[in-house]
Amino acid sequence: MNTRRDFIRKISAPLIALPFLKQWQEEHVYDGKVLRVAIMGLGSYGTRVAEAMKESKKAKLVGVISGTPSKISSWQAKYGIPEANCYNYNDFDKIKNNPDIDAVYIITPNALHKDQAIRVARAGKHVICEKPMALNAKEGEEMIAACQQAGVKLLVGYRMHFELKTLEVVRLRKEGLLGKAMFFQGLSGFRIGDPTQWRLNKQLSGGGSLMDIGIYSVNGARYMIGEEPVWVTAQETKTNTEKFKEGVDETIQFQLGFPSGATASCLSTYAMNGLDKFFLNAEKGFAELQPATGYGPIRGKTNMGELTQPHYTHQAVQMDEMADIILNGKKPEIAVDGEEGLKDLKIIDAIYKACKTGKKVTLK
Ligand code: NAD
Repeated sequence: MNTRRDFIRKISAPLIALPFLKQWQEEHVYDGKVLRVAIMGLGSYGTRVAEAMKESKKAKLVGVISGTPSKISSWQAKYGIPEANCYNYNDFDKIKNNPDIDAVYIITPNALHKDQAIRVARAGKHVICEKPMALNAKEGEEMIAACQQAGVKLLVGYRMHFELKTLEVVRLRKEGLLGKAMFFQGLSGFRIGDPTQWRLNKQLSGGGSLMDIGIYSVNGARYMIGEEPVWVTAQETKTNTEKFKEGVDETIQFQLGFPSGATASCLSTYAMNGLDKFFLNAEKGFAELQPATGYGPIRGKTNMGELTQPHYTHQAVQMDEMADIILNGKKPEIAVDGEEGLKDLKIIDAIYKACKTGKKVTLK
């Protein structure tokens, strides 16, 4: 039965929706330049990025680089990728002659990042590279130099740097609302399965949990505290030497010291599930994110209350923001360039050194 209430509901719904619609349109209509991206490495994260990019307004998936012809044809069908934009690992240097691709997003095992990034740079295309940017700081420096020489941008896939609750904590800290940062705790870990996967192969991963998941705590400590560490101590523990062979870390606890006297205490592990938490203690309050780095929604609170910023698909926002950085020179709140990736690699090098020597390592 139609009632007056039904009628009012019907006419008021569009009225109520109007301001939101306007806001939605302002946010979603974009007629500027679009970053045309080829994804290299059509694995599980590459697939996630490709799906997310459907929501991006400023970045578009236009090409693929893969060693598996069947994957190429299925991606072509799924994303409407022309034959001319498909490459394999042997011939992708030819991308140099392709005016329809602006950037290559490298989403392959860690050990391949450096050489692939250098080849992409030499082909004159911007490089977006997954974390960890490389296996160590020396490799990271080579990548930065190659991109500089080629005049292309180098960005690292730090999707949390665009996540709204994360950015809110950083804003509160930067604006002094939390007071001076004193202590950070980062817990990053999951129980890894299949022992034959590349993540547990030192040649392809360059290490273990620290390279893969612990890097979130390394990176998070820096943006939550807002300083660069000056010393590192670290301890490694291993319960399964069969699964976690020499050079593949299962669990590492590490501590960082910052110039202001602030400290961080972090856990990186492949042996425990559900570890994804950041906690910042500051003179006037605290901030907590849990989960802090998963695909979201991220949840967070501070001494002032719950964080209520909306969740957007991380990789969609990341690609829009990266398009703005590359095409329009936008400066992100938290850097995502090669130098940022290198800072994490220097700390990772120091953590491995501290594990090995049992000594405190000083960072310059
Ligand atoms: P994956 O194993 O699912 O995919 C890797 C892809 O690389 C596969 O398509 C594989 O065929 C290809 N590949 C090319 N050469 C290879 C070789 N020599 N050996 C093995 N595979 C080869 O891995 P993934 O989870 O997609 O991870 C890829 C990268 O993305 C890693 O650097 C990882 O750290 C990063 N990653 C980032 C996030 C994030 O949230 N930012 C999440 C997951 C993975």
